Amino acid sequence: MDVLGNYKSAISARSTDKDILKKSQDGGIITTLFAYALEEGIIDGAIVAGPSDEPWKPEPMVATTKDELLAAAGTRYTISPNLYLIKEATRSYGLDRVGIVGTPCQMQAVRKAQLYPIGMRDVDDKIALALGIYCMENLSYQALEAMVEDHCNQKMESVKKMDIGKGKFTVYTERGAVSQMPLKLIHKYVQPGCNVCLDYVANLADISSGSVGSPDGWSTVFVRSTKGNAVWDGAIAAGLFETKPMEQVKPGLDLVTKLATEKITKNQKNVDARKTMGLKADGTPKGLRNPYETP
Ligand code: SF4
Repeated sequence: MDVLGNYKSAISARSTDKDILKKSQDGGIITTLFAYALEEGIIDGAIVAGPSDEPWKPEPMVATTKDELLAAAGTRYTISPNLYLIKEATRSYGLDRVGIVGTPCQMQAVRKAQLYPIGMRDVDDKIALALGIYCMENLSYQALEAMVEDHCNQKMESVKKMDIGKGKFTVYTERGAVSQMPLKLIHKYVQPGCNVCLDYVANLADISSGSVGSPDGWSTVFVRSTKGNAVWDGAIAAGLFETKPMEQVKPGLDLVTKLATEKITKNQKNVDARKTMGLKADGTPKGLRNPYETP
């Protein structure tokens, strides 16, 4: 089982841009790559998870400048429906070369839309750079609120940073308090679709990135497609990243492989169980067509 997907290279990296690092969760990979791609005209805008009126609730936005990218930098632990803006980006914003960042399932949706552009006519060939982020499972905004306010006893608006790692969900407040809850308590809040998801490291992205496998402040990067390779090489040549070979960092690719294997093995069991219940993997009874599925 190839749990990490196809990739041309795997590198531990972090941005050399101090402004980006200050605002980013880990190595600032996505923001730096989009900033570079904007600068070079590889994309003319990127769909990213921006801030919204509610604290820590992401809202998709089209960023066409580095300042807008910086406003969106950092991880929010609830999904941002970035694909929702694809048509808008090409039509209302008039972009011809769109960058998009998303979870593994969103990367799958981007590729599916490119292959079967039903309802996406004239859009599919405008996706110029698709960047993926690792994802073990995801939460609704209401679930995140319950975790922060009920389990960690903090107000959403007082939170400066959230983090998942070492078996804990951690909340840091503006006033310096740190609250934690064990990750195993999160599972009941996970979105049902995540229980049948078989991709951890965004196998279909041009480049995917996440903190797992690299030291604090760095990210593990998989360069996957020819296009991704060209963008990565250009950004390296421009001095935008410090890098280390994965073999030289701890905990390294072994941990990424371990977590990917755990996710896929666990969720494959859920997929198999659904089959025995006469359900398709997406939960639709066999014989009934999922209205969201391509015929
Ligand atoms: S676990 Fe899978 S389905 Fe859930 S948000 Fe992540 S990539 Fe999407």
